[in-house]
Amino acid sequence: MSICYLNGEYLPLDQARISPLDRGFLFGDGIYEVIPSYGGKLVGFGPHIDRMQEGMALIEIGFDWDHAQWKDLCQQLMAKNGNGNLGIYLHVSRGADTKRYHAYPEGVEPTLFAFTFEIAQPPVADKSKAKGYKVSSTEDLRWRRCHIKSTALLGNVMHFQKGYAEGNNETILYNANNELTEASACNAFIVKNGVVITPPLDTQILPGITRLMLLDILRKYTDIKVEERVVTMKEVAAADEVWITSSSKEVAPVISVDGKAVGTGQIGDVWLKAQKAFEAHRYDY
Ligand code: PLP
Repeated sequence: MSICYLNGEYLPLDQARISPLDRGFLFGDGIYEVIPSYGGKLVGFGPHIDRMQEGMALIEIGFDWDHAQWKDLCQQLMAKNGNGNLGIYLHVSRGADTKRYHAYPEGVEPTLFAFTFEIAQPPVADKSKAKGYKVSSTEDLRWRRCHIKSTALLGNVMHFQKGYAEGNNETILYNANNELTEASACNAFIVKNGVVITPPLDTQILPGITRLMLLDILRKYTDIKVEERVVTMKEVAAADEVWITSSSKEVAPVISVDGKAVGTGQIGDVWLKAQKAFEAHRYDY
């Protein structure tokens, strides 16, 4: 049984208990992060914690741990769980109230919960080993605050479920103007004529840490041209390559959308270059 952390205590995960009046449970009123680690080395720790702090500020949860305190928690959890390939889940909810009432309560301590789960080896830049993702697409029906990494994920879950039920690995999403937003648990990219293009940061998408790292790495260490701009679904249909990115998948090549092949239907050469560059710099952030 893995060891988790709950409100100051390390304990076996199956012994962790929270109140049913916890606002995370009742309202999805909380913020979370997932940080990958390989052999005790964290990927993107600084930006992940920055995003968590920004999310808590946006929903007015007063929880003032600094980076060193979060780092200590991650290191203790990694050590207690064998320092293998681990996803570290961090979660701060507004805490357990004495009643169910929508307004933010006063004088309630936030609940801090963290645990680890095993993840695969880090992805490799090798076409013969990489998985080609098949995705569905659907209109993005989530809320208009998708920049907040809220634990209230039902909208994302329902979108993911559509792709899953159709035998696919993910669901990419578009807004009412037929513009690509992201995927249910990933950011989305297209490649056209060698240019890597991804929707701009706004309230329609999560500011993904893999997205942030990938754009920075491509700009600093490769000659690949990068654009952050609106992407229409027409452009997605005509793209040479489509990628989805997330902390555990890194840069994942998409080979079909709604059963139609992307480009040649094979994993692309720009993907190979991008994932290679990501691999070389994944521990820099
Ligand atoms: N978009 C959504 C909706 C997500 O849930 C996630 C990851 O959980 C991402 C994008 C990718 O973010 P990151 O690269 O920080 O893992």
